[in-house]
Formats: sequence, structure tokens, C-alpha cells
Amino acid sequence: MQNFKSEYRMRNWKNIYMLHWIINPGIMFNELFLGQRVPKIMLIKKNSTKPLSEKSFIPCPHCGTIHPSLKWSSQNKTVMGNWFGLYCNHCGKVIPCLWNLTSLAIIAITLPIWIWFKKNWEKKWLMVQKEKFSKPLKLSSPEYNLWLHALEIGFGYYLLTMLINFVIFQETFTWKKPIGNLVGAMVLGFVSAALVKEMFMKKPVNKSLS
Ligand SMILES: [Zn+2]
Repeated sequence: MQNFKSEYRMRNWKNIYMLHWIINPGIMFNELFLGQRVPKIMLIKKNSTKPLSEKSFIPCPHCGTIHPSLKWSSQNKTVMGNWFGLYCNHCGKVIPCLWNLTSLAIIAITLPIWIWFKKNWEKKWLMVQKEKFSKPLKLSSPEYNLWLHALEIGFGYYLLTMLINFVIFQETFTWKKPIGNLVGAMVLGFVSAALVKEMFMKKPVNKSLS
């Protein structure tokens, strides 16, 4: 891991995107229900004109392999289901990931329920990963469908607000509220999807041309 610095910029929890992942309570849905995870350390290749998704790499702390982050993508069906972390298909171990604070609180509260199944679940999960990663993986940037992602994220936000308002805070139900929340969630979904597209898919502007 020593010669990373000359070739890559390192991102950890101090990065704004990673910090957002830790703090935003809505991320709990992505982590606990979908199994979407962000590694503790990401490397961004210096002096590259490629989009962020193509110049992002994930190092395995166990074997030192530097994986292209595109190994974990929707087209490889590896972006979800990473409940135990990101599987390293070089050494078979698990690359540690960040935890969202709300997820951590829920994990702690529900510990007496899941602790009994964890070992078996993890064993099965590792076998599934091995199988998934034994197939050839696509490493090109996937087409980003802005509207589909906006709908997905918006729906996630919507479910979460419903859960918080009516189940946790036990608000009285009126039809106006869910519809108002749906509109709000879809707007938020669109803004989030547009931000993701801007951050990860857009090629950086070549400064020498501007
Ligand atoms: Zn490894």
C-alpha cells in the first residue's frame, strides 16, 4: 500500500461523499435493505481524464489487490447484497466498509435477533459471492438511466418517510400527507440521481481547453 500516494489520491471518511454516507439517515435503507456498501478507503487515479466511476479503485487490505470500482456495478449484479462488505475475488476475504450511523443503531438494537444466524448467513453469503465473481465481470461504465435511478431513489425515500412518520412517530393518517410526501420524495430522488450522475459519470473538463 506504500506506493499508492504517487499514483492515487486516497479518500476516506473525511471525504464529503463518504461523510454523507455515514450521516444521512436515509442511507440506512440502502445499507440494511439493499446491501449497498461504500468501502472505508477508495483510491482515485491522479491525472486521469476518465469519469470518476472509471478512475475509482478499491484496495483490498488483505492481499493488496487494487480493484476497479466498476467490479461492483448493476451490470455485474454486484452493487447490492454486500451486507458483509465487498468480496475480494483475489484472496476471498472481505474488504471493510463504512457503516451509516442509523444502520449501526438498528444493528445494535436488533443484535439479540440476528446474532444467532450471523455465522451461517455469512458462510452462505461468501459462497454466493464466490459464484458471482467467478463469472467474467464487465468493467466499462454502465449506461446511467437518470429517470430510472430518480424513481428508485425517490421510492426509497418515500418508504422511509412513511415508516418514520406513521410507524415510528405514529402520526395520524390523512391522505394529503402521503401524497405530499410522495411528491417531495420524487423531487429529492431526482436531485440525488442527478447529483450521482454529475459526480460519477461525467468526464472532467480538460482545463487546458477552457
Ligand atoms: Zn484481497
